[in-house]
Amino acid sequence: MKLLEYEAKQLLKENGIAVPYGVLIKSKSMPLIKLPTVLKSQVPVGGRGKAGGVVAVTTKAELRRQKEALLQLSIKGFRPQVLLAEEKVIIKREHYLALFIDRATSSIRLMAHSQGGINVEDNTNSSLFNETIDLGSGASVASKVAIFLGYDRDKLTSLIQKLFTVFVQNDAILLEVNPLILKDDDTFVCGDCKMELDDAAAFRHPEWDFEDTPKDTNFVVLNAGGNIATIANGAGLAMATVDAVAANDMIPANFLDIGGGATTASVLAAFKKIQEFPNIQAVVINIFAGITRCDQIAQAIIEARQHITALPPVFLRLAGTNFEEAAALLAAEDIPTLGTLEDCLKAAKRTIYA
Ligand code: GDP
Ligand code: MN
Repeated sequence: MKLLEYEAKQLLKENGIAVPYGVLIKSKSMPLIKLPTVLKSQVPVGGRGKAGGVVAVTTKAELRRQKEALLQLSIKGFRPQVLLAEEKVIIKREHYLALFIDRATSSIRLMAHSQGGINVEDNTNSSLFNETIDLGSGASVASKVAIFLGYDRDKLTSLIQKLFTVFVQNDAILLEVNPLILKDDDTFVCGDCKMELDDAAAFRHPEWDFEDTPKDTNFVVLNAGGNIATIANGAGLAMATVDAVAANDMIPANFLDIGGGATTASVLAAFKKIQEFPNIQAVVINIFAGITRCDQIAQAIIEARQHITALPPVFLRLAGTNFEEAAALLAAEDIPTLGTLEDCLKAAKRTIYA
């Protein structure tokens, strides 16, 4: 999930990293703000500067006017809930600095460019610093970056170590500081920060409380135009179900491992997600109940179907604990259960291509 600038900067601040002094402005409030200030739209996308989402303000009247204007301004489809009013920083130099997960080399890498700012993408002709961080401290790469950017070798060590700590402790996949500002007193301050956290790590971060919420990592969109939605329990069975759908000339829209303890709420959530796909013609459900009980799943499907009326036909293969009870429950609701996945897919195909 993506953090807003003010959320990311809060994490930096808590770890002793310098950020400009800032105050949050909600739509109905106008806290006391020292002028001049820079008003910044809090949307989860980059390129705000170019889109008019970062505005320097010098008078009270301007502040009121720009506050309303920025709250109305949509940037790449996002309208801000809050604005960040920051002290205006005098910029001597602007650099680009980013830590990110490099999946190809299974490492954390550091990227830097001497000229950061809103036109960083245009700096294609000058060199980019891009090296793996030595896991443990990040110390040795820090002096290389410092020298690359034209500073003494120790100038960035403490900052990069702290950024590295924030990155690791928060299970980040991206931590981008652009611009990293050198102020006129020759100290650094993080002018902007974009951070993306790993949704799959949410379980070990009960403290996460951001505007964005972790995505369900057990639900994977395979083809938004697909005509078959799949629900299975266990990652292996879920993958096999997707493969079997494709092998039967249908287009699986998604992969979903509903997990061991399927509840009405989780089945309902799955059905709701399925409704977001425009071309679904059938839902194939493949459950092998071990610890989970078939009757519980049947009950959940029945209840969930009562909440969602416009659901495509459901083809259900159920096996395992309490199957007989489940079959009786489902029969009463006219939901057929089939003995094998193959039967399920044949029935789905007949319905679709009838
Ligand atoms: P982005 O366009 O979404 O990356 O938004 P930024 O927060 O990076 O702001 C865009 C640009 O506005 C920065 O690169 C700076 O050049 C400029 N800017 C932001 N805050 C200040 C400030 O306090 N003082 C000055 N002089 N410029 C600022
Ligand atoms: Mn920026």
